[in-house]
Formats: sequence, structure tokens, C-alpha cells
Amino acid sequence: MGEIRLHGRGGQGTVIAAEMLANAFVLGGKYASVFPSFGVERRGSAVMAFARYGETPIREHTRVYRPDILLMLDQSLTENPTYYEGFRHGGIIIANTKHEENIAGLSLNQKVLATVDATRIAVEETGSAVTNTCMLGAFARGTGLVRLDDLKKAMALYFKGEVLAKNLRVLERGYEELKVTTFTPQLAAPAAQLAAAVELTIAPPKDTNPFPAAWSDVDKKMITVQTGEWRFRRPELHKASCRLCGWCSVYCPAGCMQLGEDGYYHPDLAYCKGCGVCVNECPAQALKMTAEEVI
Ligand code: SF4
Ligand code: SF4
Repeated sequence: MGEIRLHGRGGQGTVIAAEMLANAFVLGGKYASVFPSFGVERRGSAVMAFARYGETPIREHTRVYRPDILLMLDQSLTENPTYYEGFRHGGIIIANTKHEENIAGLSLNQKVLATVDATRIAVEETGSAVTNTCMLGAFARGTGLVRLDDLKKAMALYFKGEVLAKNLRVLERGYEELKVTTFTPQLAAPAAQLAAAVELTIAPPKDTNPFPAAWSDVDKKMITVQTGEWRFRRPELHKASCRLCGWCSVYCPAGCMQLGEDGYYHPDLAYCKGCGVCVNECPAQALKMTAEEVI
């Protein structure tokens, strides 16, 4: 199974891009799953979407913490190290930028770095800076995982007429104009690179914004928008009853029930909204909701 994380801004079609990509995988004979994370739902704010693909059915239903592939739809995001959080060594970065030298993930141990000036292409072809279809074309060429024809068929599920025609041209230009650089990933990343990656993965820098939940800070959105902030109760696991079936992870609408190092599923409290769906779905009554104030 491969895991993909898409980063873009509200209005760039990030979520639809993930859906079209998943459809293209399925059209190509693979299994795929997809879901979004909106954070502050506002045009221009940072948005994430997650996709998985594989040869066998996919049960994981959590957000992607360790992406094999990063697809970055907005140039400003490519320059912020936060968005490379958890990136796997030997992975693929596909970025919308005309300033490759400013890519913050350059020091990571990637196998492929592929860039395209998607904003320019989108504006030239459609008159708007919606970069999603261009980046899908870039994805097809940069990864070799999906066929351009399957992406075209997937796009036809979402667009019609002139809009489809323009976006097909954008897709093809994303494919054709992609600049691909390949590397030989080191078996063991240099200690300094590993330390940087680990630091990004487990300890995002403290946010200094005094109103973190109310703002969609352009550079720190991934850190500041934590949907767990409005939770007033949380699920608590009683390990003795847990069957390790993983249903809580499948049903969690926020995709934040994750497998911990102890082998049990736990909510990621930065994102858990306290909705209680996992508690309802747990067949073993191993989860119970507890009010925040008594914890
Ligand atoms: S309470 Fe809701 S958001 Fe939190 S882990 Fe359970 S299903 Fe997910
Ligand atoms: S659904 Fe319940 S029994 Fe299954 S893994 Fe989650 S907590 Fe354990």
C-alpha cells in the first residue's frame, strides 16, 4: 500500500484532486481510498487530503502521517518545512513551484523531486489559479503509478463540456512540463537529516499565534488548526476489552484513530472532535466517552 498526502489551499481543488486520483487508481485496477481534512473551511486557507492505493483492499482509515508521496498544489506551502512532516525516506515529492531551490523538503532523502509551474499553466489555460488538474498530470508522470488516460476518465466524472476540455489540456501540460530529478536514496539518512525529519514528525514547533483556533495562518495552518480544540469529551480505551479489530479507526470521521506503539488504537487528541462515533461502533464496548474536565 502507498500513502499520499495532498497539500493545497481552499479553492485550489485539493479535495477533488484526491478523489479524482483515487478514481484513476480504481480505473487502473487498483484499490484506493481517500478523505479530506478541511481545518478552517475558508477559501485560501491550507487544506489537506489523503489518499491510499494498493493491490489489496485498504482498511486503514486514518489521516496519512507518513506519506510516501507528497503532492503540493501551492508554491507557498512548498517553502514551509511543516508540510513535509512525517515524509518517508525514499519517497516522492511533486510540487507546484517555479523556485525549486526554495523547496523546504530538499534536504530530505527523497527518491524523486518533480516540479512544475502549475499556477502559470492553470492561469494560461483556464484563467484561474486552480492547480489541481495540472498537479494530477504531474503526479502521473512523476510517479508512474496512474495512467494519464485513467485520470482523464476520472476527470470526466467531475467536469463536463468546455470546463472538462480546458482541464484536460491543463492535465496534459502538467504531465509534459514536469521537471523530474531522481536521486539514489541513502539506505541510512545522514544523522542530521534524520534528526530534522524526526523533529518535524513528533514535535512541531510551538505556535505563537494567540488565537490559534480562530485563524487560518497562511504558513502554520497545519499546526494551528487542530480540530480537537473544541472537544469537551474524549474516547477512552479499556484495553482489557479491546479485540484489536480496528473498527474504531474505520468509522472515525476525522480519521484520527491511529494504531499506537502498544498495538492498540488510540485517538489523536489533536484532531479528535469527541463525536463518539468510535464508541458507538466498537463491537466490544472497549471505548467509553469521558468528559474532558474529569481527565
Ligand atoms: S470521538 Fe469521534 S473524532 Fe474522536 S476518535 Fe472517536 S470517532 Fe474519531
Ligand atoms: S473498535 Fe473497539 S475492539 Fe475494535 S480496535 Fe477499536 S477499541 Fe478495540
